[in-house]
Amino acid sequence: MSHLFSNYNKLPFEIVEGQGAYVKDQQGKEYLDLTSGIGVVNLGYGHPEVQQALLAQAEKLWHMPNLYESQLQETVAAQLVQQIPHTSEYAVYFCNSGAEANEAALKLARKATGRSQIISFQQSFHGRTFGAMSATGQAAIQDGFGPLVPGFTYLTYNDEAALAQALSADTAAVILELIQGEGGVIPAEKEWVQAVAAHCKENGTLLIIDEIQTGMGRTGTFYAFEQYDIEPDMFTLAKGLGNGIPVGALVGKAALKSAFGPGSHGSTFGGNKLAMAAAAVVCQQIAVPSLQDNVQARSAQLLAGLKDLPTVQAVRGSGLMIGLVLKDADTLQQVMQQLREAHVLALKAGTQVLRLLPPLTITEEETAAGIAILRSILG
Ligand SMILES: *Cc1c(COP(=O)(O)O)cnc(C)c1O
Repeated sequence: MSHLFSNYNKLPFEIVEGQGAYVKDQQGKEYLDLTSGIGVVNLGYGHPEVQQALLAQAEKLWHMPNLYESQLQETVAAQLVQQIPHTSEYAVYFCNSGAEANEAALKLARKATGRSQIISFQQSFHGRTFGAMSATGQAAIQDGFGPLVPGFTYLTYNDEAALAQALSADTAAVILELIQGEGGVIPAEKEWVQAVAAHCKENGTLLIIDEIQTGMGRTGTFYAFEQYDIEPDMFTLAKGLGNGIPVGALVGKAALKSAFGPGSHGSTFGGNKLAMAAAAVVCQQIAVPSLQDNVQARSAQLLAGLKDLPTVQAVRGSGLMIGLVLKDADTLQQVMQQLREAHVLALKAGTQVLRLLPPLTITEEETAAGIAILRSILG
């Protein structure tokens, strides 16, 4: 009997090695990985500079609590803030996961505004801790865990009238993903996001963008919100930030700093030295224009190569976050199984979407190989 809880649906093989966009299982079977380990290993497996930075830091010091200054934290914070194409000052809080980053954002929103209500959206995903789960607009994720944190309302995504009506003098924050990832690779409409930002500003409500999956170059820009011409009050990062080393971050306007004064919030491991050493290299590499050019080129290649498949109803997403909406939801598991048999790893999202999150470093040839296999199975 396994000594693990059965909260995951694990496939009966183990990935034990990885290089670039390829991974190998314990029997030596190689797979083209179109998942990046759920949008985490954005720079590919075994990235030499990230590995070097980690090894060098491992030889120096792994952990020191947040009782002391950290030059590494300052460096990564400056790198993250530098990528924000707006004039406001921003500050960063480091933690260890996406859920923790959203918890920090939700707590800060309540404390900074003195308001209690949080608006989120149906089909959203913000994590599994109580606050993050309470923000997640999916009954299946909350089932059996009630009572939830009070004060959360779930509105229809891409519906401006519903939001305008729901905002009140007690609305602390609106939290949203620019492309709902787990919910089914559902993009937000630009006009809607801009309207949400305007309504929030007018109402004194903070806008939190959950960039945990869309950030770190995934959608073709360093942050997805750059494509929406908005200035979020806060945004959260995790998945791609450490290329596989657990790390999360909340980035928020510096005006919010006073609400997170000494002792207000914290994390033992937050800003861990190994995590920061990895994140510093990741930030540097993702900012390289040729990487973002590759994301856009491979994205165009995938969208063109996956057009007009008879079993696919729609292809959507942005950059290297792509969803194929299957005509028949019942075939999703079977398609994923067939892909594995053809040595390709993919993900699902929602109930009828095949989700592709390949490494941002995937080459033209690797992408072509992936397209050929996808076409042979979905064609
Ligand atoms: C994965 C994810 C989270 C949760 O991150 P964890 O590190 O698993 O806690 C939150 N929000 C979004 C959009 C995600 O994709």
